Amino acid sequence: MQGLMQEWPLLCHKILDHAARQHGEREVVTRSIEGPIVRQTYAQLRSRALKVAQQLQRDGYGLGDRIATLAWNTARHLEAWYGINGIGAVYHTLNPRLFPDQIAWIMNHAEDKLLFVDLTFVPLAEKILPQVPSVKKVIVFTDAAHMPQTTLPGAVAYEDWLAQADGDFQWLALDENTASGMCYTSGTTGDPKGVVYSHRSNVLHAMMAVQPDAMGLSSRDAVMPVVPMFHANAWGLAQSAPMVGAKMVMPGGKLDGESVYELLDTEKVSCTAAVPTVWLMLLQYLESSGKKLHYLKRVIIGGSACPRAMTEKFERDFGVEVIHAWGMTEMSPLGSLCTMKPQHANLAGDALLDVKQKQGFAPFGVEMKVTDDDNNELPWDGKTFGRLKVRGPAVARAYYGGAGYEQFDDENWFDTGDVAHIDENGYMQVTDRAKDVIKSGGEWISTIELENLAVGHPDVAEAAVIGVRHPKWDERPLLVVVPKPGKQPDKQELLNFLEGKVAKWWLPDDVAFVDEIPHTATGKIQKTTLREQFRQYQLPTA
Ligand code: ADP
Repeated sequence: MQGLMQEWPLLCHKILDHAARQHGEREVVTRSIEGPIVRQTYAQLRSRALKVAQQLQRDGYGLGDRIATLAWNTARHLEAWYGINGIGAVYHTLNPRLFPDQIAWIMNHAEDKLLFVDLTFVPLAEKILPQVPSVKKVIVFTDAAHMPQTTLPGAVAYEDWLAQADGDFQWLALDENTASGMCYTSGTTGDPKGVVYSHRSNVLHAMMAVQPDAMGLSSRDAVMPVVPMFHANAWGLAQSAPMVGAKMVMPGGKLDGESVYELLDTEKVSCTAAVPTVWLMLLQYLESSGKKLHYLKRVIIGGSACPRAMTEKFERDFGVEVIHAWGMTEMSPLGSLCTMKPQHANLAGDALLDVKQKQGFAPFGVEMKVTDDDNNELPWDGKTFGRLKVRGPAVARAYYGGAGYEQFDDENWFDTGDVAHIDENGYMQVTDRAKDVIKSGGEWISTIELENLAVGHPDVAEAAVIGVRHPKWDERPLLVVVPKPGKQPDKQELLNFLEGKVAKWWLPDDVAFVDEIPHTATGKIQKTTLREQFRQYQLPTA
């Protein structure tokens, strides 16, 4: 017997319809690339998105066309996503922090037809597009007055282009499994791989994200996605914030501590999200300026492990709740969030921080397990670590073009490439990336745990741990440290600081001081480069 309920396809543009209908006057505020703060409402954003859809269709774009965006978080970028989706085309975000050749490779792989670009990235696009013949037209997110001289093919100013439409347009009726967005993984090993979100997965993911035990978003929130729309689908905020009618604050291209603080304060932001690097800059600014966070209630931190000291600072000094989150591009991207279950209700101090160090538990819609190398499931005991595997309606079932098929098994489990353990309460903790874990005498050492501890030292700005060749143990850990400005920490003192906090045989064999640690385009420590840099390093124990 079948249910007798309606077919109501889960389509992204229905989210914007809802926002405009129920929360039409709620604002989307942007620090524009041209400079001034620009204010719009969801109702206005929807009418502009309809114009985007109408103009795209008039220009001949349609179902399945990949339309690239190279842009910061702004209302224009957001309305373009919805307009693109409204004709069944696919927004394809490009990460401007990649090398031009890599971006060109990705665009050619996706066969992008059109590019929306911010003023900031016009020079970058001029370098890329001669290598991408499929792109015949470029729309620059600006008005005629700010339109630069450019060699970009078919370049027009967005506002001129949009002004040709009257907005008398109906979103296309689509199957909910139609592709909605595309985002490539950064490809630290091998070529980048394309992840293709569907309307259905984006809508379900947004419903997952807003839940009270996830990001806990509501119409009363003012949300600032500092995490860029070009990084892992903006952690779903482009869909989840409008879904609940939260005010959105789009920070544009200025992500330094002072600029981020200014928007948090003047726009009364209650919830924000980004990688630890961004919060490091904000906390440094707060420390030097003595400013306080008056309105912020929650900060979602993920992308790499949130250092304990950061959680402590936000919660203790500023009264802001930290929600540590884990995910990946392939998961739309949310996989787990560290909110507190009832058994943690009375925890405080170090015991609470111990839980908050973990990446949290999976919301409804994500299944999770850890296995050994032979795919045997490991116990949830909070210490046995193995390969972390996931599945769910917003988890990829393949990469675009069939790359990386070995990461997916017959039962749809996706091997994340992370190493983790899960505790009795379901809280997962990432101990490493499979390719970064240190194998010392056949036993595994977690580099992330050592790094987290090291950055807790008052003289350490940033720390990375890598395996260095060792004649007896195969590999031993080396701690690489960037000292805080003006500080000269002592090697032995640093090692003493770690002693007693981890098993004795986990302690690094040596400490190296550097001015800078290399980062990937998404702000993660680039271990491959670092390992290369220290390939010939002689450990004192070797
Ligand atoms: P990219 O590799 O392009 O930066 P992703 O954001 O998809 O893109 O990276 C996902 C990976 O980031 C995860 O597999 C994991 O290794 C790491 N990661 C994400 N969040 C966390 C976290 N909270 N703690 C530790 N690692 C994390």
